[in-house]
Amino acid sequence: MKIVVFDLDDTLYEEITYVHSGFYAVAMYLLERFDLPTDESMKIMLSVLKSKGRGQIFDSLLSHYGKYSKANVKECLSVYRSHDPQIHLYEDSVKCLEQFQKMGTPLYIVTDGNKWVQYRKLQALGLYDHPAIRKCYISRRFGIKNEKPSPYCFMQICAKENVKPSDVVYIGDNPHKDFVGIKPLGFKTVRILRGGFADIQKSAEFEADITIKTLDELWKKEITHAIPNRQPLGWQKS
Ligand SMILES: [Mg+2]
Repeated sequence: MKIVVFDLDDTLYEEITYVHSGFYAVAMYLLERFDLPTDESMKIMLSVLKSKGRGQIFDSLLSHYGKYSKANVKECLSVYRSHDPQIHLYEDSVKCLEQFQKMGTPLYIVTDGNKWVQYRKLQALGLYDHPAIRKCYISRRFGIKNEKPSPYCFMQICAKENVKPSDVVYIGDNPHKDFVGIKPLGFKTVRILRGGFADIQKSAEFEADITIKTLDELWKKEITHAIPNRQPLGWQKS
C-alpha cells in the first residue's frame, strides 16, 4: 500500500484563516488590556498585512494607538502564537481524508514552522489525533535543519513503514521547499495550487510530478492508478 503524506498550511486548510483568527485574539487582548476597539484593531492589522506583509504588524498597530513598546509587541506576538485557532479543513480535505481512510492508506503530515503554533493548528483541525493519520511530523521538533526541503521526516516515515521513497506520495503547496529535497530520492510529489504560492512558477527541479487544483482531482483515473498500485509510471506532469 502506498503511503500518502500531506503538508498542512494551504494544503489541508487555508492558512490566511489562521492569521485572521490570531489577529482577532490580539484584538480581544488589546480590548481587555487597554480598552482598544476590536473593530479598529482588526481593520489596522488587515490593512498593514495587505500593504506591508507580515513582520511589523503588531508594531504598526501599537504605534497607531501610542502603545508601542518592545514588551507590548512581544505580548501581542505571544497572544497570537498561543491562541486556540478558529480554523477549518477545506471541504475537499475532509472528503480526501475519509476516502483514504476507507482505502486503508496510511496517512502522515509533515509541516514546518513554530512547534507550538503548528501543534495548535493540528489540534484545532482535529488532525493530531485523527484516526486515519498515523503521525503528524512537526519538523521543527527535530531542529530547524530538518525542516523542508530536508528529507529527514520523509525518511523517518519510510523507516517506520518499511517502504521505499517511491512508495510515498507528498502533497503540498509550496514549490520553494516542498518537493526539491525529496524528489531526487524518488518520492512522488503532488502540488496543489492554492494559497499564496498558487501563481509561483519555478524551475523543473522545484516542481512536483503532477499539479492539481483541488484534492478531489486525486481520484481522477490517471492519478488514483498510481496511488494503490505503486506504479510510478502512472504519474504524469500536468
Ligand atoms: Mg504549505
